[in-house]
Amino acid sequence: PPTPDIEVMQHADVAAVLPRPSAESDKYRRGVVGVVAGSARYPGAAVLAVAGALRGGAGAVRYAGPGADAVIARFPETLVSAGPPGKAGRVQAWVVGPGIGDDAQARQALADVLASDVPVLVDADGLRLLPPDGVRSRSAATLLTPHAGEAAALLGRPREEVEAGRLAAVRALAAKTGATVLLKGSTTLIAGPDDDPVRVNPTGTAWLATAGSGDVLSGLTGSLLAAGLSARTAASTGAYLHGLAARRAAARPGGPAAPITAADVADALGEAWRN
Ligand code: AMP
Ligand code: MG
Repeated sequence: PPTPDIEVMQHADVAAVLPRPSAESDKYRRGVVGVVAGSARYPGAAVLAVAGALRGGAGAVRYAGPGADAVIARFPETLVSAGPPGKAGRVQAWVVGPGIGDDAQARQALADVLASDVPVLVDADGLRLLPPDGVRSRSAATLLTPHAGEAAALLGRPREEVEAGRLAAVRALAAKTGATVLLKGSTTLIAGPDDDPVRVNPTGTAWLATAGSGDVLSGLTGSLLAAGLSARTAASTGAYLHGLAARRAAARPGGPAAPITAADVADALGEAWRN
């Protein structure tokens, strides 16, 4: 039979792959996720990406960049360094991009992590700085997490075209870059560079349309990568948990909903896992 175009993530698919510690685990074996996010202009992105990363199942979160003081003030469990990621310790996956801006320091940070031999998730400002053929030659997986506007810029197409044809757009961007692509929006789609069906996340909620929620998704999904999930599985699992957490934060079962913040989403991730 022909391969279906899409597959919708199910609760059981996610429950089966959530990384869980065993008796043999230590924090390093659970995976260390490195986060490169935030800048003087966007200090909050560092905190929100780390908040997501701390709830993604990795054993430790390493932050490298100009937001180290803000991160440590909010999350003392983070390993921080103010220098470039190339000088930070070993990690099993990197998240790079939320709020990093586009100065020389941001460009160097992106180049450092792309030169590494571990999986890299690129989001937000990192997507704008991506070198044209920048990820095809990497030895480990690369995961891009654009919203429609960022995807349109990468494809060199109008945003309206991406919004009108999201399935075609996510496939085209994966084929163009050779990366796995998570296209954010009212229904989040995940495509690899191969012909596998595009994964559709059913848990999203429009309450997620709030500043910083994408930064939480980046940290969370990077943490799942560091814990050993493939780019495709980390992306679909991250989107699923993120949506579930937002629904939990916005509404109690049977009750009315209320606006949420990105930090609320991060705080509800534990409940989403248990669910
Ligand atoms: P960003 O655009 O990077 O801030 O990320 C926004 C996050 O909110 C992504 O996870 C989107 O998938 C999600 N989101 C934004 N708008 C909607 C919507 N209308 N319905 C469901 N999810 C949304
Ligand atoms: Mg964003």
